[in-house]
Amino acid sequence: MERTLSIIKPDGVKRGLIGEVVKRFEAAGIKIAAMKMLHLSKEQARAFYAVHKERPFYESLTDFMSSGPIVVMVLEAENVIRKNRDLMGATNYKDAAPGTIRRDFASDIEKNVVHGSDAPETASTEIAFFFNSLEICG
Ligand code: UDP
Ligand code: MG
Repeated sequence: MERTLSIIKPDGVKRGLIGEVVKRFEAAGIKIAAMKMLHLSKEQARAFYAVHKERPFYESLTDFMSSGPIVVMVLEAENVIRKNRDLMGATNYKDAAPGTIRRDFASDIEKNVVHGSDAPETASTEIAFFFNSLEICG
């Protein structure tokens, strides 16, 4: 069984999309192994997205990610990193396939509703950023 980190970003929470996103995960046979809502500080958002610190969108992205509450989840299923990325769709909603979360709900390359880890190493680092082992139901 593989695990990945999913985030419903501040735009998704503000727009009332928590249930919609969770429904899509469950309908795809993905188990929610942990879930909580929190509001990142600017410094915490900078730390989470440190991998992007040289990119031109880093300041704006970390302002956005600290602009309101988010929902963080540990997803569990076989091949769940890929499955979640497929459900999310491409980073730019304009390139995302029909029926994906970003194509259906995003309207901005930055405010694209969801985050998902992109590889096993980033999944374990990102899960550990938000959850300790007692908070994850295996
Ligand atoms: N992002 C942005 N402008 C860009 C590329 C990315 O604002 O040109 C934001 C967007 O919110 C994206 C996040 O930065 O989800 C992280 O970028 P990444 O390339 O890791 O995309 P993802 O893995 O989220 O699809
Ligand atoms: Mg990424």
